[in-house]
Amino acid sequence: MTARVLVVDDILTNIKLLEARLMAEYFDVLQATNGPQAIAICEQGQCDIVLLDVMMPGMDGFEACKIIKSNPATAHIPVVMVTALDQPADRVRGLDAGADDFLTKPVDEVALIARVRSLARLKMSVDELRTRAMTSAALGVPNSLAQAIHDEGINGRILLVEDRASAAETIHRSLSAQHEIDVESGPQEAVFRSAEGNYDLVIVSLGLKNYDGLRLCSQLRTLERTRQLPILLLADLEDRQKVLRGLDLGVNDYLARPIDRNELLARVRTQLKRKRYAEALREDVQASIEMALIDALTGLNNRRYLETHLASMLEQSTTRGRPLSMMILDIDHFKAVNDTWGHEAGDDVLRGFAQRVKRVIRNSDLMCRLGGEEFVVIMPETTLDVASVVAERVRGSVQAEPFRIENGARNVPVTVSIGLAHTLHDSSPDTLFRRADKALYRSKNDGRNRVTADAA
Ligand code: GH3
Ligand code: MG
Ligand code: MG
Repeated sequence: MTARVLVVDDILTNIKLLEARLMAEYFDVLQATNGPQAIAICEQGQCDIVLLDVMMPGMDGFEACKIIKSNPATAHIPVVMVTALDQPADRVRGLDAGADDFLTKPVDEVALIARVRSLARLKMSVDELRTRAMTSAALGVPNSLAQAIHDEGINGRILLVEDRASAAETIHRSLSAQHEIDVESGPQEAVFRSAEGNYDLVIVSLGLKNYDGLRLCSQLRTLERTRQLPILLLADLEDRQKVLRGLDLGVNDYLARPIDRNELLARVRTQLKRKRYAEALREDVQASIEMALIDALTGLNNRRYLETHLASMLEQSTTRGRPLSMMILDIDHFKAVNDTWGHEAGDDVLRGFAQRVKRVIRNSDLMCRLGGEEFVVIMPETTLDVASVVAERVRGSVQAEPFRIENGARNVPVTVSIGLAHTLHDSSPDTLFRRADKALYRSKNDGRNRVTADAA
């Protein structure tokens, strides 16, 4: 995998050093010698990861990080602080500024590459979602993303996998003020609970007595239900190799013992924020998919949805040799409703009409709004005889009661004309539509408020 890494340092020799190591692993490297320059490169979308020196004249690394992380256009870019400062307090300061990790100077090559690779992978999956969410935003879908950027990263549901009671107790104490935390000592139970428990984060100890924590991580990454679940490793100093392998497996972050409480809190916060950010992206994408297939006025599926699904419904009925019927409904003299009571009232009638028809058909029937005052109901497993009975019921229930408009202040009586057709051997969506439409035309011609079945 390749990625564009931006190296930011006021000393050129430092840049060259990191550049050589990164290029040896085939990463593309960009350079900046100060904070504002780095921010500009991020804003132009030219890099995937930032390696950011902390001590620079003018704007320091903490400040640059804060700016990158508070701008919706750049907040998703992973930032790794590269620093000579190695006190927990410094790390917490960086994490609070939104940094994703730290590398200590002189930079260890293996740790550098492992970290950059793991962050690049995370970024790619978020990028994919981001592109799709941008499209949703362009379509006018309300976006949850803006909100997610300001998430505090607290109130998470966390599962801690640790079988040493005292270690578990310490972590529990550190986190429980801000989060809800469960402890599990059995690795297999942990996999099960992770999949079922609706957690935001799993913290895995590498110090389990008879079990390799990495095996657990690898299982979590394999299972569909837990693939996206963030994992934080707790490691001892001698676990270094394992941590690097963990990053390759898709572990999101790690923390070395002895555990600094504030650093733990900060790293957990970062993971929660990231997870919620990705969830917000997914929500936006989902909303846009739904919006493209759902009619906003009635909440029914739209013509586009019907067109994509009718073909496969027909195919199923043909291969199974089962009947399928189609009903086309067109409200009578609907133009007069608009002309008399106004367009708003017309909309109320359309909404009420959709609800009423839905109530008298089966759940397994698919009702769509074709457009205007025309609707379709597809009835799988239904012969023309049965469909006629259903259609008559629909017609009757529309006529039975007038529709409420103007918040119930008035009522408008409405009737509906219906055309029916059912599948024959060679039915394509087109021929089925045409035959149902022809039957509807006859209902209209014969005086409206009636059901006609296609004779074919
Ligand atoms: P017929 O009995 O022959 O079907 O007569 P009709 O008046 O129902 O049919 P026509 O196709 O002439 O008119 C349909 C009307 O539906 C015209 C249009 O203004 C109205 N219409 C279409 N879409 C909407 C909508 O979303 N809201 C409202 N309020 N009216 C709509
Ligand atoms: Mg009409
Ligand atoms: Mg019409």
